[in-house]
Amino acid sequence: MQAGWERENNVSQEMKLSKYSIGTGDRFAHQAKAQLQACVKALAEGVVVVPVWNKSNREHRIIGSEPASTRNAADRAVASMDWKQGYFCDADHITLDTVARYLDACDFYTIDVADSIGKPAAAEDVNAFVANHSALVGTIALNGTDKNFTITEQTLRVTAEKYLAAVKKAGEVYRVILAAKGAGNFVPEVSMDETDTAQSPVELLIILAAIAAEGIPVQTIAPKFSGRFNKGVDYVGDVAQFEREFALDIAAIDYAVEHFGLPKNLKLSVHSGSDKFSIYGAIHRTIQRLDAGVHLKTAGTTWLEELIGLAEAGGDGLALAKEIYAEAFAHREELCAPYATVIDIDVAELPAPESVAAWTSDQYTSALRNVRGAETYNSSLRQLLHVGFKVAAKMGPRYLALLEANEEIIARNVTENLFERHIAPVFLGRGI
Ligand SMILES: [Zn+2]
Repeated sequence: MQAGWERENNVSQEMKLSKYSIGTGDRFAHQAKAQLQACVKALAEGVVVVPVWNKSNREHRIIGSEPASTRNAADRAVASMDWKQGYFCDADHITLDTVARYLDACDFYTIDVADSIGKPAAAEDVNAFVANHSALVGTIALNGTDKNFTITEQTLRVTAEKYLAAVKKAGEVYRVILAAKGAGNFVPEVSMDETDTAQSPVELLIILAAIAAEGIPVQTIAPKFSGRFNKGVDYVGDVAQFEREFALDIAAIDYAVEHFGLPKNLKLSVHSGSDKFSIYGAIHRTIQRLDAGVHLKTAGTTWLEELIGLAEAGGDGLALAKEIYAEAFAHREELCAPYATVIDIDVAELPAPESVAAWTSDQYTSALRNVRGAETYNSSLRQLLHVGFKVAAKMGPRYLALLEANEEIIARNVTENLFERHIAPVFLGRGI
């Protein structure tokens, strides 16, 4: 076992993420209360789901906001609703270059090292890792499954060559945060999801060994799962295969906690987790069966609920929602470019802004709202608007004024989306 967190585990006030948590995004910092209301509803049914407000550096840049605004909105919501179950502000997908800005405002750090995957690690580091982990070579029996992992020295070496540089990079970022905030005062996550190829459960186990050796007391790990996790729309892939791999990933985590001394509450983090309706059943069944936790991230869909609420309100709200679509349509190439790997828009499916201009509230909301099996739902329109928040950001006060004028109707949509379509299936097992 590596040194690094044993001491910290004795710190009584150590910040721990609870078993179930939901990452939620609030791009314009107006919906924290409505989002928290979804957690309040879960609590009323006896299940603690802790909110984690996440906002990436990319979003802050596009919107022109500061991390402190997310923190203030979260603090205000928690105080006004008397929420006692804990909450976090996530410096989402930060790197060594961007972490500094988040040291004050955040207490959860998604350390993104995807760009370092596949970068060559120093030969002596790889050799040392293989030598120090010879105990992993052979057959590894896992809890909760009849499957075993078979690891050869070659597997160890190839995996170390692929991931060790990324884990070392995570260590560098972790130590910057540690120096600023002190041990036990924040939740570290390591994310590897924004890359081309999925990590297998065996790779995850070896990555966790490397994270432990690096001294990072990681509480959540975000691998890239197999299948497509496009922004704000359903999962595309083999659900049965996802379920098998998800269970093996949890078994790998269980092994890592037991053998590498990682924190006992270490759990999977499912990024781009919003609207993945077809795998929520698999996730719920598996965490129940294995008594595991999960962190489900649903960043951008709240902004879409703002649009839905505005459209539902009719009048100026509907007019603005149409204007935003027209602008997003006109600038679709530049809006989509940064998200190219996580969206699949069929341009032929996008309605012409001239026809959207004639839509009723109902036509707009039913095209945008992602309800399983709804015939009028248009996933291309939804994905375009998902990445189109820059258009609203440019409108500035005009957009915010309409959010405020229609607060009630928007809040109802925000809460319902987060609770009924995300928290209820994943954490309460309802409607799966
Ligand atoms: Zn992510």
